[in-house]
Amino acid sequence: MQFKDVIGLHKAKDKLLSQFKQGRVSHAQLFLGQEGGGNFQLALAYAQLINCKNPSENDSCGKCSSCLKYQNFQHPDLYYIFPNNTNESVKKDPQSELFYKEWVNFLKTKPYFTLEDWTEELNAENKQLIINKLDIGSVNKFLSLRKSEGKYKVILLWWPEKMNHVASNKILKMLEEPTPDSVFLLVGHQTEELLPTIISRLQILNIEKLSAQEITNGLMKIESLPESNAKDIAALCDGDMVKAIKISSNPESGLIYTDLFIRWMRACYELRMENLIEWIDEISNLGREKQKDFISYCLRMLREVLISNYTDGSLNNMNDAESKFAVRFSLFIHAGNIGFFHQTLNELNAAIERNGHPKMQLLSVSLKICNYLRLKV
Ligand SMILES: [Zn+2]
Repeated sequence: MQFKDVIGLHKAKDKLLSQFKQGRVSHAQLFLGQEGGGNFQLALAYAQLINCKNPSENDSCGKCSSCLKYQNFQHPDLYYIFPNNTNESVKKDPQSELFYKEWVNFLKTKPYFTLEDWTEELNAENKQLIINKLDIGSVNKFLSLRKSEGKYKVILLWWPEKMNHVASNKILKMLEEPTPDSVFLLVGHQTEELLPTIISRLQILNIEKLSAQEITNGLMKIESLPESNAKDIAALCDGDMVKAIKISSNPESGLIYTDLFIRWMRACYELRMENLIEWIDEISNLGREKQKDFISYCLRMLREVLISNYTDGSLNNMNDAESKFAVRFSLFIHAGNIGFFHQTLNELNAAIERNGHPKMQLLSVSLKICNYLRLKV
């Protein structure tokens, strides 16, 4: 993967390029950014760059023997560590190495992905995926092998937050006593879940969130969408490329959320029980993940409406249907009730996570919203 294949992230790319050109390749770096925003892809492109035999001003060459292997997602000097667990084919002592075939296949078929996608791919049923001591232990073996052709031996570790305690301590030792020419690239999302001692050993690269324009460009490139469709979808995704790709493969889901949101707010405001019950039945039929997606959609819309209330609209990012609704709805959203909306919707999200049939919670949340909409500024 070359930098040019990674959507947006120009600031992070510039920083990496400038370090590379000055010969400052850090032996341990944390690519820190939101899930779905491309931090894994950027780390992989960076690994390709530092091993490229003929890099240009701004990118790896994409043609040398090292680049070709990287572009096939496999290189003898590249080692992946990722969360895993037992499944149908690996029944005990799971570790990343045992899932390489599935992993490389996964990388080849999914331009952008989340841990949830990988969990599904692995078919680990409902088990939590973790990175365990065997995973980190195997890094020693990898590092003891002779380099094949690259300048660096790269360990690309996805989701360091999923390392258990023993794995964390094991990797800490390696970071404290680096092997020459080894480069650890950790692709993480929240520093709070990592040991402070590990953080202190890492150079942190903060990766910016993708803008709506970048998501639009990405959808046009990856999904070959026309610009207007891509723009509508990008407006729903809050910097999440994975979500954008998912919506574009099911283009109606985005519009369905807008419609659901408008009807919900109307039914709450008018307090028409029959409309409310019908609406609750409808949303109860969506799966748990869609319900959670819908809640995050509601939170985004409320934020947009609040912004439109206090600014000239230049900071807004809504599609046509949303903007139209926001004009009238903005009369009901203000600093005096936005906090209540947030708290209640976040509680609803947690309730949905606990059980997938939250009819009672939906009713009680709807009645609360009815009150919030009536609060004056
Ligand atoms: Zn190259």
